[in-house]
Amino acid sequence: MTLSVGIAPHDVTQEPRVALVPEVVTKLVKQGWQVYVPQGAGGAASCPDAAYAAAGATLLGAKDLAKTKLTVALGLNLPAKLPYAEAAVAIGLGSSPAAGAASSLALQKLPRTTRAQAMDVLSSQANLGGYAAALAVAHHLPRLLPALSTAAGSTKPAKVLILGVGVAGLQAIATARRLGAAVSAFDIRPEVAEQIKSLGAKVVEVDGPTAEGKGGYAGALDAAGLQQLQEKLAPFVAQSDGVITTAQVPGKAAPVLVSAVAVAAMQPGSVVVDMAAASGGNVAGTKAGAVVQTANGITLVGETNWPGTLAQTASRFWAQNMANLLAVMVKDGQLSLEDELVQAMVVA
Ligand code: NAD
Repeated sequence: MTLSVGIAPHDVTQEPRVALVPEVVTKLVKQGWQVYVPQGAGGAASCPDAAYAAAGATLLGAKDLAKTKLTVALGLNLPAKLPYAEAAVAIGLGSSPAAGAASSLALQKLPRTTRAQAMDVLSSQANLGGYAAALAVAHHLPRLLPALSTAAGSTKPAKVLILGVGVAGLQAIATARRLGAAVSAFDIRPEVAEQIKSLGAKVVEVDGPTAEGKGGYAGALDAAGLQQLQEKLAPFVAQSDGVITTAQVPGKAAPVLVSAVAVAAMQPGSVVVDMAAASGGNVAGTKAGAVVQTANGITLVGETNWPGTLAQTASRFWAQNMANLLAVMVKDGQLSLEDELVQAMVVA
């Protein structure tokens, strides 16, 4: 039996990343997969149709899609209805089942275990997002990040504060450090302190609430706890030239960590990158998908697809995650959803 995998087409002007890249198509073809790619699918990720064809994929126009049956359809955010004739399995980042698929898998339900790491798109993408957010601070700040001594004067390192130190926050710390900033960081999970120190950043300690959730995630604070935390963090925010916030609580709106009062106390020219802008925002006043200036000259950055700003690398990592996932979905040459990691993702 030939197993077939196809990319679910999407609007590349809205989502520049693509679920398979030519390099990974080559590997899949060698393993015996028949690979289908909608024309133009990789166009915004620097993956031209010709590269997919050279890698052994079959390119499909819109009419061909409706005639093609797949073993597995892959997407970033799958459409509610697959344009393919039929698929045994659809995989996407989103929990709604795709019509036209016998089974739907939601990638964000993959357990965060060591074995699952090679398939974990949340991690591979958040890591790149943290890097991109640190670059955005450097880009929007009207000052240097590193210390510099010149005949025309000298500067001290810019102060960058990271709030929320999961996968994205750790990469934001590492990147801001490499750019020469003086970095400090805070997370509601106290066990992260050692990781912050190991990256050469200072741990911000606040005598405030903690919220331990399940499975290594944070829990939600109540309104009073959140207000207390905002007040404790405000002086650290005011002293910072750049702030990057990444705080998320699974299944809940993102906690607001930086209040309007805290933003108003920052120095003109300071920059706040709110990586949680798509899920409600960590910062009062950020606008999802936009860059706004406050009355006191603070830049609030609300970009909602940070890994998408690095579409080429993000697609490569995503595609390798997909190839690793496909490998556990084949047993004795047949499609199999038996693996416990796959089972955990089945939504329909
Ligand atoms: P996430 O995106 O859910 O949240 C980002 C960060 O925000 C977390 O560190 C969280 O503690 C923090 N946060 C939430 N509420 C906050 C608040 N009120 N104040 C300050 N910070 C707050 O996190 P993530 O990056 O997906 O990582 C979640 C966990 O999964 C971490 O423990 C991480 O180490 C773990 N993880 C494990 C693996 C693995 O072993 N395979 C892979 C990836 C992540």
